[in-house]
Amino acid sequence: MSEIRNVPELFGSDAFNEATMRQRLPGHIYKAWKNCIETGSQLTLEVAQEIAEAMKLWAIEKGATHYTHWFQPMTGITAEKHDSFITPTGDGRVIMEFSGKELVRGEPDASSFPSGGLRATFEARGYTAWDPTSSAFVKDGSLYIPTCFFSYTGEALDKKTPLLRSVEEVSREAVRILRLFGDQETKRVKVCVGAEQEYFLLPRDLYAQREDLRLTGRTLFGAQPPKGQELDDHYFGTIRTRVSNYMKDLDEQLWRLGILSKTKHNEGAPCQHELAPIYTDVNTACDDNQLIMEIMKKCAAKHNLVCLLHEKPFAGVNGSGKHNNWSLATDSGKNLFSPGKTPRQNAQFLVFLSAFLAGVDEYQDFLRCTVASAGNDHRLGGGEAPPAIVSVFLGDELNGVVQSIISGTNYKEPDKSLLRIGIDIMPAIPKDTTDRNRTSPLAFTGNKFELRMLGSSQSIAGPNIALNTIMAEELSRFADVLEKAEDFDAALQKLICDALTEHSRVIFSGNGYSEEWKQEAAKRGLSNLSSTAEALATYASDKTVDLVTRHGIFTENEFRARYTIHLEAYNKIMNIEARTMVDMAVHQILPAAVHYTRDLANTVAAKQAVGASCRAEMALIKNLSHHTDGLYDAIELLKKAMSVMPRDSQTMAFKYHNRVIPAMNALRAEADALEELTDKSYWPYPTYSDLLFY
Ligand code: ADP
Ligand code: MG
Repeated sequence: MSEIRNVPELFGSDAFNEATMRQRLPGHIYKAWKNCIETGSQLTLEVAQEIAEAMKLWAIEKGATHYTHWFQPMTGITAEKHDSFITPTGDGRVIMEFSGKELVRGEPDASSFPSGGLRATFEARGYTAWDPTSSAFVKDGSLYIPTCFFSYTGEALDKKTPLLRSVEEVSREAVRILRLFGDQETKRVKVCVGAEQEYFLLPRDLYAQREDLRLTGRTLFGAQPPKGQELDDHYFGTIRTRVSNYMKDLDEQLWRLGILSKTKHNEGAPCQHELAPIYTDVNTACDDNQLIMEIMKKCAAKHNLVCLLHEKPFAGVNGSGKHNNWSLATDSGKNLFSPGKTPRQNAQFLVFLSAFLAGVDEYQDFLRCTVASAGNDHRLGGGEAPPAIVSVFLGDELNGVVQSIISGTNYKEPDKSLLRIGIDIMPAIPKDTTDRNRTSPLAFTGNKFELRMLGSSQSIAGPNIALNTIMAEELSRFADVLEKAEDFDAALQKLICDALTEHSRVIFSGNGYSEEWKQEAAKRGLSNLSSTAEALATYASDKTVDLVTRHGIFTENEFRARYTIHLEAYNKIMNIEARTMVDMAVHQILPAAVHYTRDLANTVAAKQAVGASCRAEMALIKNLSHHTDGLYDAIELLKKAMSVMPRDSQTMAFKYHNRVIPAMNALRAEADALEELTDKSYWPYPTYSDLLFY
């Protein structure tokens, strides 16, 4: 393993970032680009032409021969189609060319990407458009250009387009609020996101021996190992050499691309790790997270490892999530979720806080839907990740302030006079609240909100689109009221007090895993959408459709198309998992049990011939036969559950959830019982002990 010597020099060396642009572009071109970033103005084709030329020269120096428009279709992973720079000169030679047009617009054949019915096959064309706000980069001999992806008729087919739209919305509405508090400078408000990524690493050879891991990314069978994570000896433990070599390599590759990989450590489960980058603007964070996931996988292969990003690779041990740390900041870097020093700043902080709470409460189903997936169903509500009930944890200090505003009492001396926002000084809130509630789906952590509901394999775009949009909605309602107010302070006091009172049900500080919380949440009228099938049934509710269309994040068609895409993805994954189970049970598990039983029976016959005791063998045979019959029946029941599927995707999703999953669980129980009874040399695939304690 070579040592990395000069990180600052290495960092971003393969990214066409701002520093490179400043250095490589003519002054007026750089300024035009910068202006586009800062004000959202359009770039002319002439400017694009100059940028394309500089990009090409730079990329060729970096060894690139091709370029690709890189986009994020609804598959949740990224897509690319590579074209070389070569252009014939007519005399048998070529030159390397790349035009402004090629930079700005592409036309990949889009027919195989999910469109949710937005595209008929006869108009299968999809277009990509350069996103100049995210850096291009060179990887594996190609220049990668981040792009938006849309249909012939202009409908968004990707995750980036609505994300960029939502960033504009929340920025505009936040600026309106800032103006009311006397800020005349801020032109834009940025959404800042840091996404912590959890993952598992397994030896490649063991992985290859399991069909379930290869086909579905998780184990569909597997008895519990004698040791799990109960000793907590993995969390933050010493990182073993093989893994630390992998992490070093990974860091180097990410740094080259300008990705701010910062923290790495072992996680709760054996073989589980985490990588956290330093936060950046949400669009870049989203692109970076896609790259992190992709490079994590590729890099693992180099080290004879496999990186699993599935939310629940193993039953009985922690699954993997992604913590999405979200905040808003002005273009000069002032965090709008930092409680301020002056009463005025504190009042402004309370406006943003109230808007956040109102939005999360009002649109809890929307938020819940953005993290719904087959894989994440194993986590949410599973007693390790946050529950499926959306609530917000504020910490004692801030909660105290909020409750005192609601009850109209003074925070410090409860029986004294009213706490007047903007007049009284709100107590300083410690930046790093110590009693972090790990069971909360959305926790205020000093100056940002940490959304912990995301699954490890999911794009971070969905929940950020939701957070930005609900925030834009509430801020705009607040601004409407405050802009018209004759007595600003009085209006502000009332607005904050009303919002907090109306939405306080979404605040919860207790144990989110407890049964009492489920009952309490139901009493408060909070949703508990405990599965993807249930969650998605609320996806295109009138309320959400109204919200996203009013803010121009999605057209109604785009949004309904996404509902279809998510349902279909869920149904397809369930179908693959169920079929893989049947396949493994019929072709691997059943024969293993039968062969072992046969050999035991032969042993019994031989032993009886010499008059030896066969009590153990007989008992074992009886037990094995019992579970073999059980396995056989469970296979038949699962096949039956899957034999007739409703045509309607939502009904199908409910059937998978209500009928197929219980049948899968029953099959697994029989198989795992057989595994516990069977001689290891007969067992067809590596066990949990083999995999988790390699
Ligand atoms: P944890 O204890 O959950 O690991 P950290 O304080 O280490 O929390 O931060 C986790 C993530 O939050 C990092 O990616 C970090 O860069 C990001 N982060 C820190 N401050 C902000 C902020 N103001 N806005 C968004 N993300 C932030
Ligand atoms: Mg965290």
